[in-house]
Amino acid sequence: MTGVLPTILVFIFGVIIGSFLNVCIYRLPRNLSIVRPPSSCPSCGEPIHGYDNIPILSYLLLKGRCRDCGGAISIRYLAIEFMTGVFFVMLLWLFGLSIELAIYMLFVSLLIVISFIDLEFTIIPDILSVGGLVAGLAISFFRPDFGIIDAILGVLLGGGVLWAIAFFYELLRKREGMGGGDIKLLGMIGAFCGIQGVIFTLIAGSFMGALVGIPLTFKKQEGMTYALPFGPFLSFGAFVYIIAGDPLVRALNGFLGGG
Ligand SMILES: [Zn+2]
Repeated sequence: MTGVLPTILVFIFGVIIGSFLNVCIYRLPRNLSIVRPPSSCPSCGEPIHGYDNIPILSYLLLKGRCRDCGGAISIRYLAIEFMTGVFFVMLLWLFGLSIELAIYMLFVSLLIVISFIDLEFTIIPDILSVGGLVAGLAISFFRPDFGIIDAILGVLLGGGVLWAIAFFYELLRKREGMGGGDIKLLGMIGAFCGIQGVIFTLIAGSFMGALVGIPLTFKKQEGMTYALPFGPFLSFGAFVYIIAGDPLVRALNGFLGGG
């Protein structure tokens, strides 16, 4: 089921999808169409030839430079293609060739696009978060061990908890703390991962955020007002939940004596 050939094929598939995710990351926040026109060089605007548009290989062959103008092409393109391939292979090894695999490929793709857009622009386009939320609800009808009720409860908790935190933060500090985009993102995560996934994601994401954010805060010497985009951390938390959530939650329950 998860032999060498499926692994290679799923990796190649992931790399091709990663190449498309790069297009979405570049174009969605700039309000450009993701279908047309074909990719062009970010420096000189020349269209990229088909033979120069092979994921990973073209980047390595051209040493990360545009064939026309020699302008540097961000290593992020290569990293995202490779990362998507690796993540898809991890999902294959966990879920085998199943409907769950296809669903989580879609979910992880959304998380990757959201994370990189949020990192660069500190926004999360609604088409991804709200669109993903609706897709997660619809897809729940096709999942063997996760139903529409699980999805709805996840959305309510995900959207609700963060909304409440943001509401009280604003009340106390008279300043917006958590963006509406994060709230919609956690709602989307709830639609795919349910209540348990939302709680796990929030804890893991906050922990990671603190781990990265606290040193940054000291470095910036600007007190606690420095806003770090929270989307990448929530996405990371959700990914860890898909990959290792069940055993981690079971181990924690055992540890706490819940059995
Ligand atoms: Zn160029």
